[in-house]
Amino acid sequence: MKKKILMIATGGTIASKETSEGLAPAISPNELLACVPEVAEACDVETVRPFNLDSTNVYAPHWLEIASIVERNYAAYDGFVVTHGTDTMAYTAAALSYLIQNSAKPVVLTGSQRSVYSRDTDARRNLSDAFLYCADSSAYGVRIVFDGSVILGTRAKKTRTRSFNAFSSIDFPAVAVMRDGRPLRYVSGSRPSGEPKFWHKLDRNVFVLKMIPGLRADIFDYLCRSCDGLVIESFGAGGLPDYEDGAFFKGLARFLALGKTAVLTTQAEHEGSSMDKYAVGRRLRSCGRVIEAGCMTLEAAVTKLMWVLALARGEEAEKLFYTPVEYDIF
Ligand code: ASP
Repeated sequence: MKKKILMIATGGTIASKETSEGLAPAISPNELLACVPEVAEACDVETVRPFNLDSTNVYAPHWLEIASIVERNYAAYDGFVVTHGTDTMAYTAAALSYLIQNSAKPVVLTGSQRSVYSRDTDARRNLSDAFLYCADSSAYGVRIVFDGSVILGTRAKKTRTRSFNAFSSIDFPAVAVMRDGRPLRYVSGSRPSGEPKFWHKLDRNVFVLKMIPGLRADIFDYLCRSCDGLVIESFGAGGLPDYEDGAFFKGLARFLALGKTAVLTTQAEHEGSSMDKYAVGRRLRSCGRVIEAGCMTLEAAVTKLMWVLALARGEEAEKLFYTPVEYDIF
């Protein structure tokens, strides 16, 4: 029996054509499918195009829209392929991993570095691999399929702007590679049983504070006014500077005293934060309850905080944040 798959086309380079203003999404889902005739042999595909954007413009409302399309069509299809721009695909994949949990059916994101009509494009391979992976009976959950790798939605990061191997699986193996149109599994995992769980809200008032040497602590005046959640992208193992008479620690204490939530992470791409290692990190504990993202990707930390803060605050938010979803934290 052929698998029935819903293609959710959202734009990106894969659907882009050269215009007088530069590359912009213009290719329809059916035109894309016409470029990969082998897909029709493996599965029956129907298409929707909820929006057609460069993924620079894709954020929380779009993530919620994609999740709601999957929810409304869940019973009618065996899997979902989301075509998407590469720039923010890792954020969308992480967000979908929180919005669609315990899914025994696959939700596969893909895109490309070059337009489907350009010579030497990676679009055909990625599209074909995404559908063939989605149609495989071992597939489930939210995954990115790109350049032959199958990466967990919670572990992906765009690490290259030009090369075909644009995505890396950070501090976790790719769960499979595609070989001749079939997944060769490295990590088997266990297919969820029971019903999928869909979530319908995100708190967009999350800010990422990327530390640079010498940053001034009065940024906290803005953060206290405008955000519910803060991800501090600190240096190395993690910490805050104690210049300006400890103004950063005072700012963070003020932020937390307002009932807001702060998460510490690191700018280092690998191996995560370790807040208790240095005095400049351990002192964060004196500011109030600070969550530590550890080995999470920034994309997962940000979107998980948006998901958590739509559901809970304070201690409950902390507990939810630390509860692993698809190997996002361990
Ligand atoms: N700017 C494009 C986008 O993210 C890049 C791509 O798709 O590769 O929509």
